[in-house]
Amino acid sequence: MAIESINPATGKLLRSFEPLTDEVARQKIALAADSFRTYSLIPLEHRALWMRKLASILEHEIDDFSILITQEMGKPLHAARFEILKCADACRYYAEHAARILAPESIPTEDNYSYVRWDPIGIVLAVMPWNFPFWQVFRFLAPALMAGNVALLKHANNVPQSALAIESLIRRAGFPRGTFQSLLLEIHQVETILGDERIAAVTVTGSETAGRAIGAQAGWLIKKSVLELGGSDPFIVMPSADLDAAIETAVRARCVNSGQSCIAAKRFLVADEVYDVFESRFVAGMEAMRVGDPMKDGTDIGPLATVRAVELLEQQVQAATKAGARILTGGERMLGTGNYFEPTVLTGVPRTSLVYREELFGPVAMLFRVQDINEAIEIANDTPFGLSASAWTRDPAEQQRFITELQCGGVFLNAMVASDPRLPFGGIKRSGYGRELSAAGMREFLNAKTVVIS
Ligand code: NAP
Repeated sequence: MAIESINPATGKLLRSFEPLTDEVARQKIALAADSFRTYSLIPLEHRALWMRKLASILEHEIDDFSILITQEMGKPLHAARFEILKCADACRYYAEHAARILAPESIPTEDNYSYVRWDPIGIVLAVMPWNFPFWQVFRFLAPALMAGNVALLKHANNVPQSALAIESLIRRAGFPRGTFQSLLLEIHQVETILGDERIAAVTVTGSETAGRAIGAQAGWLIKKSVLELGGSDPFIVMPSADLDAAIETAVRARCVNSGQSCIAAKRFLVADEVYDVFESRFVAGMEAMRVGDPMKDGTDIGPLATVRAVELLEQQVQAATKAGARILTGGERMLGTGNYFEPTVLTGVPRTSLVYREELFGPVAMLFRVQDINEAIEIANDTPFGLSASAWTRDPAEQQRFITELQCGGVFLNAMVASDPRLPFGGIKRSGYGRELSAAGMREFLNAKTVVIS
């Protein structure tokens, strides 16, 4: 089947590509393997120069890249620009900090000398989603290339132009041929690629289905894997919270990237004392979100990326109401061209319903009234996912309880969850395993080699 780039705001086909044959894919793996042999020996300072050049190209050509992103997957243009700047930031972070992270660690023993060194492991295969078509790639790629690994990308099939633009960008920054290649593949081909003995490891960002399939194969092959999967992050508001800031952030946190972010707040757990005020102002905030043409200034929410995404969200909202939930605002797919969905707030979603345990990947919020912090923590943790959480309270004792008792990869107090190159990023439970970003992310795909000299 052709791999198609379709503008989700217009439904227009932008470009179409034939998937690579298995034979061409094998040739690309061979090129990556050749490249690794020489690239891994190149001094770190050279790699850092290319990484900084990469950041500069991203910044200089931000208009072209952000328009490409917006046309290909529908996020508002200002959000696409922010994404490009974030990629440049990650490149600079690793250019600057790789030497520190990769420095050998001396560990005194009874021998003359003993230490750990961080060696690259080879070709890392990345299977990536469309929601941040550049950022998802850069957050694994910048540390991988700085560490001396090489990479192959199987990007989501609705963003092939972004995949190819990134490949060209890496070459133009000066990285040698074969250090990074985008493979336009269908999902059934991933198994063959991962099965190739020259592939050392795999990183997946995407749904549980993709993570389970690829993670199972990687386990069987005994290859390292990192899985960054879905989330249904709680956003908790306690009575002592700064309500103005919490409500403004809650709306932003639900609607970020048109609601299509793994770390978007999806379940809002609000203390009884402040629930009514929160509900009415949150609903007003969601209704004030401007939905429309993502290329236009002032648009907050664009179309969802694919027809399948908008249909799935519609089915989930219908299932929620059938199970007894009430719609406070929105609830419908918008008529006309484009995959638009109304900003929606649901209340009374039964905890026994299927949708309660699912991820809602679009601008749909679920509100819950909680009696106290015990109930807030209990509901927050009552999910198959464990990506991150945002909790709003000025009470130090409550803050400490959230930090220790929330079961997830990151707790943000009085702040919106966001990724940052300086901080580890990832989840627990069915949100996956392993970390990206910071030193922890870089070391996922390195061999911690013990050296003892007697
Ligand atoms: P998806 O369907 O799993 O797609 C992600 C990638 O996996 C795509 O390249 C896709 O290829 C590929 N894929 C899917 N099934 C596969 C299989 N059985 N074998 C091999 N490859 C497979 O995910 P999505 O719906 O596009 O993306 C949204 C999901 O990603 C959400 O659940 C979101 O929470 C999650 N996400 C997580 C993070 C995180 O850091 N934790 C970040 C962003 C998004 P095709 O496109 O060709 O189908």
